[in-house]
Amino acid sequence: AKLLDGKALATKIQQELSATITRLQPHIGRPPGLAVLMVGDNPASAAYVRGKERACAKIGMASFGKHFPTQTTQAELEEVIHHLNQDERVDGILVQLPLPNHLDAISLLHQIDPDKDADGLHPVNLGKLVRGEPGLRSCTPAGVMRLLQEYEISLRSKQAVVVGRSILVGKPLALMLLEADATVTIAHSRSQNLAAITKNADILIAAVGRPELITAQMVKPGAVVVDVGINRVTDDSDNSRLVGDVQFESVANVAEFLTPVPGGVGPMTVAMLLQNTVDSYSQRLKTK
Ligand code: NAP
Repeated sequence: AKLLDGKALATKIQQELSATITRLQPHIGRPPGLAVLMVGDNPASAAYVRGKERACAKIGMASFGKHFPTQTTQAELEEVIHHLNQDERVDGILVQLPLPNHLDAISLLHQIDPDKDADGLHPVNLGKLVRGEPGLRSCTPAGVMRLLQEYEISLRSKQAVVVGRSILVGKPLALMLLEADATVTIAHSRSQNLAAITKNADILIAAVGRPELITAQMVKPGAVVVDVGINRVTDDSDNSRLVGDVQFESVANVAEFLTPVPGGVGPMTVAMLLQNTVDSYSQRLKTK
């Protein structure tokens, strides 16, 4: 299989965004700003947040890291979001998920100004996606679409199968594929005979969170396979490594295109987060 190199594309997008920032900054009078809210000390979340802040710095974007202790209350976080909504230096706000159990993520996301919703998870932006209107799009599905576009993989009239129906990945991605004129099937944990469904896919997306669930027998020869999954597994000698939802070695023998993990969808998610923030930033120019 040919690799869909998300890392290389993300680097290219970041260079383009950096140039856009250099061009716009004299007119707007400040760099774009992204606020990243994190609650508690989940090590995976902390690593993602560091990665996002590093990416901001690399392209000349200001990041405002807000790290709160686990016991922070819903009201305190809402207050912070209200401040950030008003803060002129901030173009994008994201809440790193998952949140500790006592917090209600959905109602917190509702508080974000939809125009600053860098993760594209506010109901207004999800509603715009359903209607096919322009708006801020969720980063991981947008990253998958951008990657397919870069490799000129046509979606029109193709059979696309999305395994996973989360609000973060599966559902919005299915809508984006539909918008691109694919015939879309969504499979999930209650689907029967998953292999029969995935085997029909010209474009197969795995967004499940089950290490190596998708094997070669489940893939149509010549298919495009995108692996969204990021799973940490430990082998017999206690070494830990990251694997996707797709069994890479076996599927590489049947698929025409395949994303690696890491280096596929992960870097594209970060690139789309930056893209969304720069898009909101450039809107400031229009309203100035
Ligand atoms: P999630 O909220 O846990 O959703 C998983 C989905 O998979 C659910 O819809 C679930 O079905 C379905 N599912 C679970 N077991 C299944 C099975 N055996 N067969 C078929 N469907 C099954 O996870 P998520 O947030 O969408 O994330 C999915 C994966 O992507 C995770 O590994 C996550 O770490 C990764 N991820 C990566 C990025 C990135 O940047 N690359 C970003 C976000 C997430 P039900 O709805 O029926 O429960």
